[in-house]
Amino acid sequence: MPEMHDKRTCSNCKQTKHTSFFYKRGNRFRSHCIDCIADKRIQKISTLKVSTPQSKICGKCGIDKCSSDFHKNSTVKDGLASLCKKCKSEYDASVSHIKDESRKKHSSNSKKYRREWYESNKLLKRFYTAKRRSLIKNATPVWQDAKSIRDIYMNCPSGYEVDHIVPIVSDIVCGLHVSNNLQYLTRAENIKKGNKLV
Ligand SMILES: [Zn+2]
Ligand SMILES: [Zn+2]
Repeated sequence: MPEMHDKRTCSNCKQTKHTSFFYKRGNRFRSHCIDCIADKRIQKISTLKVSTPQSKICGKCGIDKCSSDFHKNSTVKDGLASLCKKCKSEYDASVSHIKDESRKKHSSNSKKYRREWYESNKLLKRFYTAKRRSLIKNATPVWQDAKSIRDIYMNCPSGYEVDHIVPIVSDIVCGLHVSNNLQYLTRAENIKKGNKLV
C-alpha cells in the first residue's frame, strides 16, 4: 500500500495522520504529531504561569521578597530569577569590570587567532584566491583535478609564487587554471613577467 508511506501513527494520541503532521528530526519523523507537541508546549507554559509564586527567597540576601522584586526568567520553573533585583544589580556592578576585561581579552585573542590562521593558511588562501579568479574568468575546465592544483599551491617553496605559464588574463591568449599551466616563480620574476607569455 503506497499511501502508508505518507501516514504515521502518533505514539502519544495513537492517531494515524498524514506525515505533514509530523516534524522531522534529521531525516526521521518525530514520534509525536504536531498537535500533541503543541498541546505539551501549552501545558508547559500554563504550569509555568501557575507555579510562579507570590514571594520567593533571594538566593543571595536570603530575604523572602515579593515576586515583583525579582526579574522574570522564563527558563526556570518558577519563572523568576534566583536573585532579587537589588542583589542582581549589586552583582552586575561587581562583575562588570571582569566582563569588560574578558571581552577585551577575547577580542584580542580572536585578532591573534585570525592572524595566526592567516599566517598558517597563506598558501591555501592564495589557492582560493586564484581559484576564485579562475572561476570568474571561466578558466578552470571541469575535468581538472582540483586537488593537484591545490597541492601546487600548498607546496609552493617560500620566496616563490605560483604563476600561470600562459596568463589567465591576456590580450593574445587566455590560459587555463590547470596544473600543467602552473609554475613556481620568485616574486621578482613574477612581477617582471607580469601578464606576458615567456
Ligand atoms: Zn498525537
Ligand atoms: Zn537579594
